[in-house]
Amino acid sequence: MSDKGKSLNFIEHIIEEDLRNGFPDHLLRFRFPPEPNGYLHIGHASSICLNFGLGLRYDAPVNLRFDDTNPTKEEQEYVDAIKKDVEWLGFSWDKECYASDYFQQLYDWAEALITDGKAYVDSQNSGDIAAQKGTPTEAGTNSPYRDRPVEENLELFRKMKEGAFEEGAHVLRAKIDMASPNMLMRDPVMYRILHRAHHRTNTDWCIYPLYDWTHGESDYIEQVSHSLCTLEFGPHRELYDWFLDQVTASDKVRPKQREFARRNLSHTVVSKRKLLQLVEQGHVNGWDDPRMPTISGLRRRGCTPAALRSFAETIGIAKRENVVDVALLDHHMREDLNKITPRVMAVLDPVRVIITNYPKEGEEWVQAENNPEDPNSGHRELPFSGELFIEREDFREEANRKFFRLKLGGEVRLKNAYIIKAESVKKDREGEILEIHCTYDPKSRSGSGTPESLRKVKGTLHWVSARHAIRGEVRLYDRLFSDPTPDGHKEKNFLDFINPDSLMTVTAIMEPGLKDAKPGERYQFQRLGYFCVDSDSTEGHLVFNRTVTLRDTWAKIELKQV
Ligand code: ATP
Ligand code: MG
Repeated sequence: MSDKGKSLNFIEHIIEEDLRNGFPDHLLRFRFPPEPNGYLHIGHASSICLNFGLGLRYDAPVNLRFDDTNPTKEEQEYVDAIKKDVEWLGFSWDKECYASDYFQQLYDWAEALITDGKAYVDSQNSGDIAAQKGTPTEAGTNSPYRDRPVEENLELFRKMKEGAFEEGAHVLRAKIDMASPNMLMRDPVMYRILHRAHHRTNTDWCIYPLYDWTHGESDYIEQVSHSLCTLEFGPHRELYDWFLDQVTASDKVRPKQREFARRNLSHTVVSKRKLLQLVEQGHVNGWDDPRMPTISGLRRRGCTPAALRSFAETIGIAKRENVVDVALLDHHMREDLNKITPRVMAVLDPVRVIITNYPKEGEEWVQAENNPEDPNSGHRELPFSGELFIEREDFREEANRKFFRLKLGGEVRLKNAYIIKAESVKKDREGEILEIHCTYDPKSRSGSGTPESLRKVKGTLHWVSARHAIRGEVRLYDRLFSDPTPDGHKEKNFLDFINPDSLMTVTAIMEPGLKDAKPGERYQFQRLGYFCVDSDSTEGHLVFNRTVTLRDTWAKIELKQV
């Protein structure tokens, strides 16, 4: 997975410059810092590939850091899911870290700030504090508690920690500058009281540090050299640096925050908060629903880690936000699945074919290549008989010359088997076709070497022998949202754009060899697309997800921004 030799992205240019300016390369260290308040999505995959990719490029350690400072939203379930997803993507972290492990250190530093006169306890409510913030063009107003004596601040802060106060009674604020042009520098809140159990520290703490106070100091504790975050943290950088100024020792690495643009994918939403809404309101069947843009949903759908990594690498990182067309992700899935999946035959919407001149009760086994893209994948034997299923849409009673599939009086080759000719149809009272009666050319068997076997006919169809077939449930997915940017409309909510037909379930007819298929296994159903065995499968009841169809619309679209 090393990407040495590739051209540099702008973050790598920053690192290269630091190295040229004397930063020792053995001190490079990165981190991926998810908050365990939901499952990772495709946007996170970009951040993971960026940070772990830097680790590989510079042979530097990368920490997995859980940014777990908000017990109201965080859970162990999410921690476990995040670890599984990062591993599945193919990356290994150096240290597994938790911001909550630094609560004591952060607290000690906060006391030191109070002692230095750089932090104070504010006893106003959040509404009053907000009202004093000012505007970007007008300075804020100092809190009446801003000049509280150090001793009183210390005593109150200790009592806050001991649980003496109700939530909202006091906060600890950094004493910076209420007139700063950067609103974030106007005495930001560092701690709040929350009488909530934390998934790791339980009830040890009832004051919790806020993001700005936690993130940079966590980077410092771990000695992360380059702390990469998304653009919305740009204005926070000044505060990140101010907090670091308070603690950084001269012989330590001082972390550097740099920002890159969030990645958005068309026809979906990438925000844990919104994805949680989809789950909680039952629009999907959980975080790993194959329609979800979560890493776990994509995995369940049949996407490979290699496809996700090459997708992330292709879109790269940017300085400006944009929306990447989901067709590009499909394209990367197809490219990888084409190389690795065994080919099988399955019919999603079956109609029966009777070969009238085939021996009654007769059967034979024909040879089929497992994967023409992989010379080592070998062959398998497929049962053939006088009663088969083909796809309903592959037959028409009448059709023009451009229809290369089966029509009355016309011929097609059944893949890996014989040429058949449609002679007549049998219909039910509603006119629905029940059976297509055909004849076959016994000398035309594929691979038999006869002149008839080499005879060219325009169409080749997939098929399954009726007597040998197994049945399985197949879930066909369409986009979860009908709009390319569901959360980009001011007057409408993203939920208004949910596609009511994003899931269609059919019972398919499949070649018998699939009966032992295991959850997670991926196949190409010939002419139909790529499919993956779903975790809902049980002994005797197979369930497949369609990962992606065969047809690549991406080639036509090219890399465009929606
Ligand atoms: P969300 O809004 O989905 O909750 P978040 O930024 O709050 O996302 P975190 O768990 O805090 O999620 O993010 C972990 C890391 O992943 C951060 O460095 C964050 O900047 C990055 N990240 C999150 N979403 C994206 C995205 N869409 N594109 C690129 N990076 C992302
Ligand atoms: Mg977040």
